[in-house]
Amino acid sequence: MRLGLVIDLDVCVGCHACAVACKEWNASGTTAPMTDYQPYGAEPSGVWFNRIRHYEVGEYPNSKTINFPMSCMHCEDADCVTVCPTGASYKRAEDGIVLVDQTKCMGCNYCSWACPYGARELDRESGTMKKCTLCVDRIYDLKIPVEERQPACVNTCPAHARMFGDFDDPNSAVSIEVRERGGYALLPELGYNPTNQYLPVRKAKPIPTENLGKPGFKEKLKGFANRIVKR
Ligand code: SF4
Ligand code: SF4
Repeated sequence: MRLGLVIDLDVCVGCHACAVACKEWNASGTTAPMTDYQPYGAEPSGVWFNRIRHYEVGEYPNSKTINFPMSCMHCEDADCVTVCPTGASYKRAEDGIVLVDQTKCMGCNYCSWACPYGARELDRESGTMKKCTLCVDRIYDLKIPVEERQPACVNTCPAHARMFGDFDDPNSAVSIEVRERGGYALLPELGYNPTNQYLPVRKAKPIPTENLGKPGFKEKLKGFANRIVKR
């Protein structure tokens, strides 16, 4: 089994609900607490497993904002695991989830330097490294209704931009979406073989630019009326 996420960049609206749901869940689960530094101070900051970047692509008026959620990719060939001197970072054979054993981590930062996706966060309070666990303490919890046994970010996303499943199963929803929509992994040239995949943004129709900036009928009428009122 190879569990991971598919994120549809075409429908992500960049609302950060996934990041907040992730923080909420992981403030109470086995990787808790997800530390906040000075939560009520002037400059609150803290540990986040999930971050959403925003990019502007293309030239105005055919430009578009791309919202890009990023967390641990649960790579198949994860150097964060191989460089860890204490064996705290490990990849589970049974489902491919990459985890950090908090009792073994000494916060040396090697894994964060080895991770090209910026997925690792040093918790300055515990002195240990933290990262997305794919909600391992949620997806296997038999007390949770079956349909909710998925990562908190997937459960929460109001745009349904996130999917969770087994990439080893060619008939899983994640495998089908990736196959049919041309899903891709980030930075494949580095050879980490990330499990998480992204679905591309669909091409939008170009906006005609000929009349851009020229006043339409309404604007002309308004201008005419304004001139009369001013006189
Ligand atoms: S994304 Fe980074 S932290 Fe996650 S498995 Fe890959 S290398 Fe490791
Ligand atoms: S909750 Fe969904 S729509 Fe909102 S930022 Fe996360 S992935 Fe995007």
